[in-house]
Amino acid sequence: MFTIVTAIKASCNGYKQWLRTSLLLLLCVAVQAKSHQLYSDLATLTSLPHAGREAGSDKPNISAQFLFERFSELGLNTEFQKFAFKEGFFSQAHGHNVIAQLPCNTLPCGKVVVISAHYDHLGINGSKIYAGANDNASGTAALLTIAEQLKKAVRHSPVVLLATDAEEKGLHGAKHFVATIDSLAKYALNINLDMLALNKKNTLYIMQSSGARPYTQTLSKLNNNNFKVKLVSAQRMKRQLGGGRIDWLRASDHYAFYRAGMPYLYFGMGEDKNHHSTKDTLQAMDFEKYQHVVMFISDFIVALLRCPSKCTS
Ligand SMILES: [Zn+2]
Repeated sequence: MFTIVTAIKASCNGYKQWLRTSLLLLLCVAVQAKSHQLYSDLATLTSLPHAGREAGSDKPNISAQFLFERFSELGLNTEFQKFAFKEGFFSQAHGHNVIAQLPCNTLPCGKVVVISAHYDHLGINGSKIYAGANDNASGTAALLTIAEQLKKAVRHSPVVLLATDAEEKGLHGAKHFVATIDSLAKYALNINLDMLALNKKNTLYIMQSSGARPYTQTLSKLNNNNFKVKLVSAQRMKRQLGGGRIDWLRASDHYAFYRAGMPYLYFGMGEDKNHHSTKDTLQAMDFEKYQHVVMFISDFIVALLRCPSKCTS
């Protein structure tokens, strides 16, 4: 009897062990699949056929089409938003924002949250290819991961995932998007992602306008042992980074939302020694750190949309 019980116990323990190992393995596979997708999106956006993602073509370029397909694959209602912008004194060019929508899936439904990242970069100049891995394939690939997470999440607010074009030529895509908003009162917040690959400082900066303060309460509850997080105002960011040379308020798409009176949060790594050079490549990025940053931002946004509508109204 004792022998049989022991044998049963042993086989149960073996089974439990097997189950634990299998679950762990499944978890590992899921995590790896997620990071594999993030890496693959980043690799695609910085690849040679994307040719540095320069804005200005009459039709959506290969990068715009890629984003359209990825958002559509995720089941999001996606569209191109074409706009014209001035390139020189006399010439005009076109840009294409890619806009994907996720409606509320729980009541009460709050105001709209716009998550933006510019996908354009500097293109090619002779034999020089500007891959723009950090600026801003990093924010664009993050936008796709966030879309995937938000799709499965409880959403007390409608979400617009906005991949802007022609940011490098004067924030034109973001300005156009803001100009087409019918009622700003329906919008709560812009979350702008630009340059998320951390450098030696190992710090993620979150720049917030005064109106965005109610939305950053959940930040302290997030688990993060991988990098430092600094929550700063535009003035403080200017004082602390770049010796006051860089006007961080006007440096990226959040400025278009700020000008319209919408609260904003900007996520970025601050100064990058490879900024606007051919050295801004996928190889120069620390992918593991970047991956932690993307998951941190994604967890923050999921938590923000899960809380009752007072958070986003
Ligand atoms: Zn940028």
